[in-house]
Amino acid sequence: MSSPTGNPVLDGPKKLAAAFPNKELSMASLSVHADDYINNHQAVAPPMHVSTTFRYAENPDDLKPWENLNPNAPFDSHIYSRDSAPNSTRLEAILTSLLGAPALTYASGLSAFHAMIVFLNPKRVAIGGGYHGCHGILKLMKKLNGLEKLELESDADLAKLQPGDVIHVETPLNPTGEARDLAYYRRKADELGCYLTVDATFAPPPLQDPFQLGVDIVMHSGTKYFGGHSDLLCGVLAFRPDKAQEWLPALLEERLHLGAVLGSLEGWLGVRSLRTFELRIKRQAESAQKLVDWLVEEKAKEGSLVSEFVTRIQHASQQPEAKEEGSWLRKQMPGGFGPVFSIYLKSEQQAKRLPSKLHLFHHATSLGGVESLIEWRAMSDLDIDKRLLRVSVGVESWDDLRDDLIQGLEALKKDPKAQ
Ligand SMILES: *Cc1c(COP(=O)(O)O)cnc(C)c1O
Repeated sequence: MSSPTGNPVLDGPKKLAAAFPNKELSMASLSVHADDYINNHQAVAPPMHVSTTFRYAENPDDLKPWENLNPNAPFDSHIYSRDSAPNSTRLEAILTSLLGAPALTYASGLSAFHAMIVFLNPKRVAIGGGYHGCHGILKLMKKLNGLEKLELESDADLAKLQPGDVIHVETPLNPTGEARDLAYYRRKADELGCYLTVDATFAPPPLQDPFQLGVDIVMHSGTKYFGGHSDLLCGVLAFRPDKAQEWLPALLEERLHLGAVLGSLEGWLGVRSLRTFELRIKRQAESAQKLVDWLVEEKAKEGSLVSEFVTRIQHASQQPEAKEEGSWLRKQMPGGFGPVFSIYLKSEQQAKRLPSKLHLFHHATSLGGVESLIEWRAMSDLDIDKRLLRVSVGVESWDDLRDDLIQGLEALKKDPKAQ
């Protein structure tokens, strides 16, 4: 992890920005070029390096502990792949650019959450519903050091927080896609001297930028939108740029010891995925909004197919503040409300049986990929309402997805077990 000016994760974006002093490059351009400074070969597509170890300098006079500068590839110098490796470093360079904050990768979203809790080392964490796995990590921490879990939406619980504790907000929230007010929790964190951390997996930029609202650490399951093709596990931690000099070396050292690093294939796939990131996320969010609007409209029509089966539609766009000019929600999600939403059918049987009748939605868990997914959520979340279906919209045409839902509901109408 060496480079002439310090750290590649920090140096890369600065280098490209310096070439365009009068403008900020768009997210679309950055996702294709933010890692160009690392190139040390004529190949346009990045190489995949599988090596776990990297040759030291030939000249003994150049040997310095924990520094392995390769003068021919100053931004691509490594020692051992548990510390840093070419493909994951390249991915970090692009993520740092897209998130506008230093970003590190981990083996999965949960290992990133784990690394974040180990790093901040709070005695208490206030957390709401949301992704069940994060609660699993907090349970492990409780076993190790007695960490106390508090309820985010209880004022009495928030009052128990002490300086150095963590307020962790997932927004938008799994599985409903509804948002939570980050500015509100920033004020609470300031009053109490706590860190504010966010799981922003459901709405990466350009949908929302939690750093604009003063968040300390943003976590993503990169498995979802950054990976985008349902073929890699990845976690990301990005943190306040003003803390970079202090936090980056500390997080890197802890990651070296936790060992939860991204594999080289995943790093390579991640770079390949990010090239089309902006196209995907915009299309996915737009199509989800069209589907939600259509469902809401149909549900309001008496006697329609949708109104016969669908009792409720949950999505950030359906929260009252979504319609209020200048509301916290409109400020927090200026780029659209996210590609995941939930619908409730009238009965458990209906929710269980609809997914198998669809042709363009795979019945599977996870989200964020180019393929639209629908999940009878009771399959993977034991505490959830059994009538809930979680929908993750992919990059197919939205009207094809709508027509698939229509034919699925028609088939459900004919299914004797769904009545
Ligand atoms: C998937 C997910 C995670 C966990 O990420 P993995 O990459 O599966 O470890 C955490 N939070 C949210 C909101 C998720 O959707």
